[in-house]
Amino acid sequence: MKLRPCLAACGLFLLAARAHAGLSDHTLDIYWNDVEGGGSTLIITPAGESILIDSGSPGGRDSARIHDTAVNVAGVKKIDYYLQTHFHMDHIGGVGELAALMPIGQVYERTVPGHDPDGGGASADGRWQISSKAYRTFASDQRNHLQAGTVIPLKVVPGPGSLPLALRCIVADQKFVDPPAGAVKNPLADQIVVHQLVPTDNDNSAAFVLDFGPFRFWDGGDLTWNFETKVVVPVNLVGQVDVYQVDHHGLAFSNNPVLIHSFAPTVSVMNNGSGKGTEKSTVEGLKSSPGILDMYQVHKDLRADHLANNTPDEFCANLASTSRPPTIPGNIIKLSVAPDGKSYTITIPSTGHTKTYQTRMGKDGPGGQK
Ligand SMILES: [Zn+2]
Repeated sequence: MKLRPCLAACGLFLLAARAHAGLSDHTLDIYWNDVEGGGSTLIITPAGESILIDSGSPGGRDSARIHDTAVNVAGVKKIDYYLQTHFHMDHIGGVGELAALMPIGQVYERTVPGHDPDGGGASADGRWQISSKAYRTFASDQRNHLQAGTVIPLKVVPGPGSLPLALRCIVADQKFVDPPAGAVKNPLADQIVVHQLVPTDNDNSAAFVLDFGPFRFWDGGDLTWNFETKVVVPVNLVGQVDVYQVDHHGLAFSNNPVLIHSFAPTVSVMNNGSGKGTEKSTVEGLKSSPGILDMYQVHKDLRADHLANNTPDEFCANLASTSRPPTIPGNIIKLSVAPDGKSYTITIPSTGHTKTYQTRMGKDGPGGQK
């Protein structure tokens, strides 16, 4: 990453300054780590608290990248909250190693399965006992049960003019929050298409909505098509969002266009890999969404039959494969919401790309009017 030599040259003074950046500038920052087609989203609140949603894959590469982003870029020494969307290795795999690199505070998780979460049978259950051990045993201050309606108790910057901040679980284990009072039927409800999919733990994925004043962000983990439908049909439980983290790395089993078009995001960010996600149906669903301006990708998809699905290079953080050897650093995407919540800036530090967007004020749907 570009920041590393600067930090080395500038020494402790800059490091110290960065360590307090979240407290002094009161922005809400979101970082997408490059975990090669897994999930790992780091959020730093205006009060300086850190939240990590998922932790990529095991093997040292992803935990090292997450640690680097947290400590050297975001300037935090601890993960205050660790949130687990579901129990696949590209989402749980890094946290055991990360816990050895930096302390982890409060964990929010669904009930950890005692068997293969995809129901693979006795031999798969045996493999799960081994592969999940690092997850089941990593050190933290406390482990808490996560379910639909769980609100992470984040601090708000004290003082007049500070914006409300809320991070809420909308769905987990196929259970949803109650519809808001007075919610009306989604006008897109008659467009739903049902797909018959093999059940996996993706169906049980937790999904989160982060509100900061008028700004709204969606992280749906790997929630799948038919359960995405239930987020917005018969009524939209979320309303419109500014930034949509593309579900499930951009795979076609997810990213139901009824969900995307009901959210009507201004910007999407896809945590894909150079050979994972970025499916044509997902990209078409995003491109046809009302009000969308730009689509970011953590990786350019390098597969020949996926090249046409890519967003322009300037919106990709990694244009080449960075998966091997594991010492190659991955490039992050950073989003920073202004303290008044009225605008947000997305940067790709490795390329210098930066673009500012206006928060869509007075959003339609539940909670849209602040
Ligand atoms: Zn995944």
